[in-house]
Amino acid sequence: MTELLFRDDAYLQSATAQVVAADARGIELDRTIFYPLGGGQPGDIGLLLRASGEPLTVTDTRRGESANSVLHVLAPAQTLPEPGESLTLQIDWARRHRLMRLHTALHVLSCVVRAPVSGGNIAPDRGRLDFDIDMSLLDAKRIEEQTNELLAREVATATVWITDAELDAQPELVKTMSVQPPRGAGRIRLLEIPGIDLQPCGGTHVRNIAEIGAIRVLRIRNEGKRNKRVEIALAD
Ligand SMILES: [Zn+2]
Repeated sequence: MTELLFRDDAYLQSATAQVVAADARGIELDRTIFYPLGGGQPGDIGLLLRASGEPLTVTDTRRGESANSVLHVLAPAQTLPEPGESLTLQIDWARRHRLMRLHTALHVLSCVVRAPVSGGNIAPDRGRLDFDIDMSLLDAKRIEEQTNELLAREVATATVWITDAELDAQPELVKTMSVQPPRGAGRIRLLEIPGIDLQPCGGTHVRNIAEIGAIRVLRIRNEGKRNKRVEIALAD
């Protein structure tokens, strides 16, 4: 079980941690700032620095088999650290911050296009949501303008926790058809963008939507009966 430091502070760019286990699949640490692939957001990349200064390159971060287990995947042919060894963690912050900006922008987009979300993905240079909607209702220029109007409100985001029962009483909070929030832990994490959006999400977000700036709609495509894809990029 790894303590997920990014869950309470998505802005941690470095931290120290101890190795719990290390094998060819990846390094497990007692705590981490590396976000593992999930919810459409890619896993972080970066460095693990040994006490000698030797850097180990992390090329991907994945969830392990048990809950809250995180595997830091190393580039090939690197020395594995020893269990108990202390490491300094450094994520590729420029990449992560772009992912946070795009991820939070997709929350806002999901409030402009009022339809169930049937899929989504984020890359460092673009993000997309798929909607279960008629193509004729999607207008790129209108979506771009309305999203940018909401982004211009420059409101602070907040993490809110509710119980499973509270979520059951408000099923309209769940917009993503294919991904139900994890249950059983007793509480569910929501992202709130006051006045704009409130929905379950375990990803990393910016503190204020002002950090996103404006977005551009790159294209809108029909990807299937229930998947009308809206792809966006950051304007800068
Ligand atoms: Zn999110």
